[in-house]
Amino acid sequence: MVEIEVDEDACVGCGSCVEDCPNDVYELDEEKGKTKVVKEEDCMACLSCHEICPSQAMEHREIHVAKRLYIDRKVSNVLDKMI
Ligand code: SF4
Ligand code: SF4
Repeated sequence: MVEIEVDEDACVGCGSCVEDCPNDVYELDEEKGKTKVVKEEDCMACLSCHEICPSQAMEHREIHVAKRLYIDRKVSNVLDKMI
């Protein structure tokens, strides 16, 4: 599974990653004014959040594993529909 770490010192709380993530992995912590990871298991390692974050505040580890899981899930969904 992919591991995501957000550097709270770097995060400026703009919310771009929250809006941009297709799988709602992030939520904005209103109290802290920082983003937080709430559904790490749904990350498909598209790295869209890296592109959009103005402070490069997040780090993803084990990306190759997440990609593999995502591809397997997609293939399995397609196969289910064919059978
Ligand atoms: S890599 Fe993609 S799916 Fe994962 S947290 Fe970032 S935007 Fe969401
Ligand atoms: S895009 Fe970056 S700076 Fe903006 S809320 Fe997300 S982690 Fe923080």
